[in-house]
Amino acid sequence: MNIHEYQAKEVLKGYGAPVAEGVAITSADEAEAAAKQLPGPLYVVKSQIHAGGRGKGKFKELSPDAKGGVRLAKSIEEVVSNAKEMLGNTLVTKQTGEAGKVVNRLYIEDGADIDRELYLSLLVDRSVGQIAFVASTEGGMDIETVAEKTPEKIVTVPIDPISGVTAADAEKLCTALKLGGAAKVDGMQLFPILYKAFTEKDMSLLEINPLIVMTDGHLRVLDAKVSFDGNALFRHDDIKALRDESEEDAKEIEASKYDLAYVALEGDIGCMVNGAGLAMATMDIIKLYGKEPANFLDVGGGANKEKVTAAFKIITADPNVKGILVNIFGGIMRCDVIAEGVVAAVKEVGLKVPLVVRLEGTNVEKGKAILNESGLAITAADDLDDAAKKIVAAVG
Ligand code: GDP
Ligand code: MG
Repeated sequence: MNIHEYQAKEVLKGYGAPVAEGVAITSADEAEAAAKQLPGPLYVVKSQIHAGGRGKGKFKELSPDAKGGVRLAKSIEEVVSNAKEMLGNTLVTKQTGEAGKVVNRLYIEDGADIDRELYLSLLVDRSVGQIAFVASTEGGMDIETVAEKTPEKIVTVPIDPISGVTAADAEKLCTALKLGGAAKVDGMQLFPILYKAFTEKDMSLLEINPLIVMTDGHLRVLDAKVSFDGNALFRHDDIKALRDESEEDAKEIEASKYDLAYVALEGDIGCMVNGAGLAMATMDIIKLYGKEPANFLDVGGGANKEKVTAAFKIITADPNVKGILVNIFGGIMRCDVIAEGVVAAVKEVGLKVPLVVRLEGTNVEKGKAILNESGLAITAADDLDDAAKKIVAAVG
């Protein structure tokens, strides 16, 4: 689960990280009062969307030379005029895709005088099986470009889960970021704070780009992107409350209510499969025969009729779907349950596109009988290959 920058800063502030004062607003009428709460004379007006690259982003509705999604303002009047220009418009960044994201919320922040922009993140480094810091002096810009062109400028410091952040680890990070004086004192405090926040809140990513050294020599967390491990959310009601469903795909939200592993994709063949591996294989074989899947969907091992019906409805509600492939291996899951779910769902929502069903495993004959006797226009397939060929041919 992702959260907004202002929420991430609130979480980090709770752990004692240095963040600027700021106020989140959802209407331009609030801009003046928000700015008045801040010391000035420099302010920053920041679009709150679940995507990075806002500074270099462009608003669809504004002229191409209008400023981006993160703007400096030198007076309260400028804060207000920028807020009016930005709110309600669509920001397109490298991470949003062409459609962009509507800016429904702004964060008005106390502006900082920047000396240097650094990169610092925490992630789960699977290559070493540890949480690791990633640090670079080349912050503020595209870290992917730095990783590609000058990888020696990126330093990884894995943290031992037993000892946590040691003085030696912190020292390494200070060296990597070239921190001295007050900035080093701040850094030595900040690294353990970030590690504590990361582990206690079950984050999967904590990215500060940039972490800045201000002209007064101190550090400040200027931007913050935080993702949480969805499987651990059950033990963090405070974090769950930060979810902003307006930033998420409506079909994915619906799927999460039924505990379905669903990811919306760009293609036109809807897939309903049980088991993540089989779902991946199904997507691969659709591609092999020249089409693209409209989604990844794993109904799971123990799906009941309600879950299958919900899954089917989510697929058919997607206007991009021109055909549906149901591919089920009945292990724990029984084929007759799937068949009943499919039939119930089709009867409820109708079937406007071709449907190919491949069933194999427990109760497969019963399942096939249910489909055959339903009187619905369902094409049966013998195996995965046959199923993929049939649905690709049907979609044309
Ligand atoms: P992003 O573009 O979505 O990554 O948004 P950031 O929060 O990282 O802001 C983009 C850029 O705006 C930063 O890299 C800074 O150069 C600039 N910026 C943001 N806040 C401030 C500030 O308080 N003072 C100054 N001088 N620049 C800022
Ligand atoms: Mg940034």
